Amino acid sequence: KEFKTTYPDENYTVHVGHGIFNETLQYYTSGYDDVLYIVDENVHAHFKHTVIKHIKAPVLTRSGEAAKTAEAFMQLVESLLERGIKRSSLVVVIGGGATGDAGGFAASVTLRGVDFIQVPTTLLAHDSAIGGKTAINSSHGKNLIGAFHRPRGVIYDLDFLTTLPEPEILSGFGEVYKHALLNSEKAVTVLMDRTAGGIKAEDLEDSIIEGIRTKMYYVSEDEFESGSRKFLNLGHTLGHAIEYEYKIPHGHAVMLGLYAMMFISNNETDSGLFDLEAHQRYFSNLGYPMEILETLDPVRMLKYMKHDKKNTSDDTVGFILMNNDFQPYFTEIGTGKMVKYIRAMKESL
Ligand code: NAD
Ligand code: ZN
Repeated sequence: KEFKTTYPDENYTVHVGHGIFNETLQYYTSGYDDVLYIVDENVHAHFKHTVIKHIKAPVLTRSGEAAKTAEAFMQLVESLLERGIKRSSLVVVIGGGATGDAGGFAASVTLRGVDFIQVPTTLLAHDSAIGGKTAINSSHGKNLIGAFHRPRGVIYDLDFLTTLPEPEILSGFGEVYKHALLNSEKAVTVLMDRTAGGIKAEDLEDSIIEGIRTKMYYVSEDEFESGSRKFLNLGHTLGHAIEYEYKIPHGHAVMLGLYAMMFISNNETDSGLFDLEAHQRYFSNLGYPMEILETLDPVRMLKYMKHDKKNTSDDTVGFILMNNDFQPYFTEIGTGKMVKYIRAMKESL
């Protein structure tokens, strides 16, 4: 399947399917003088004798956030230069969200910018490979150094997902669930039914494709996040704080953040929109560490949340909630009120 962004110009296509990598790649590389590959070390280990065996001298990235340090990043750029990268080269970035973020950023700054394509290989990367945000981490927080740099194309070959370890499936599912929430109440019900007995990547293909559409809709509408793109941050404000404090995978933290979003939305709108007990049971059955929510230190969480790039003032935290019509909205919650909400949520669990 193919989906195209709807920017005024410079649109790109997201290709999704099984066994599509090599054929689709050929289509992209044909117009370039040469092609350089940045490949996640684990993906390389799994696929170097099969799907990617034709790739000579790839630049390997370290697994996980280690790919997103300033040192690792400079090495990556130097390796591209050492291999003779030119403005007329194409960079192909193959890996999870971390490799995608670091590789995309390298493509955006090396020689002041070369073309690149994203080849996501994790469930989570259905999200991160689309939208043109690239970044590495700072000692002050995640993703604070980066650029907007649109890929020329995205090739999401679902066959890569077959070697993904279970915790990575669980983490990636956090974003699939978020996209379902942003999509419709129906999409959430369908997804919960599909995964009631556990998460299997092969059962999720329709939901992944729906998620890609949802993501593309928001990034095409508001590329630089001055408005509706913020909604993609659903569950992420507290989620990032939890990720940072407890060092758990991104999607696990996002799922806990989504639960908090449901709790706060119910209270702000006095609606009972979300069945909290059912969600609590569902998330912990799937294996998300819901018990972390019972140990949150509200003041520390608040400190992290105030570093969020979306904040506008010192005494409030920008937060995405959902209203009674199941629509996301942005609101600023006073810091005192936020602390109260976190305490109340802890007591309710
Ligand atoms: P990741 O890139 O760290 O990959 C997770 C692990 O899976 C790594 O150990 C990796 O080596 C391994 N792996 C990757 N593909 C594999 C495969 N096919 N088989 C076996 N192992 C494989 O993590 P992720 O969850 O994909 O991405 C998380 C990152 O994405 C975070 O840094 C986050 O900030 C970023 N992100 C960016 C955006 C964006 O819009 N740019 C959006 C969401 C998340
Ligand atoms: Zn996320």
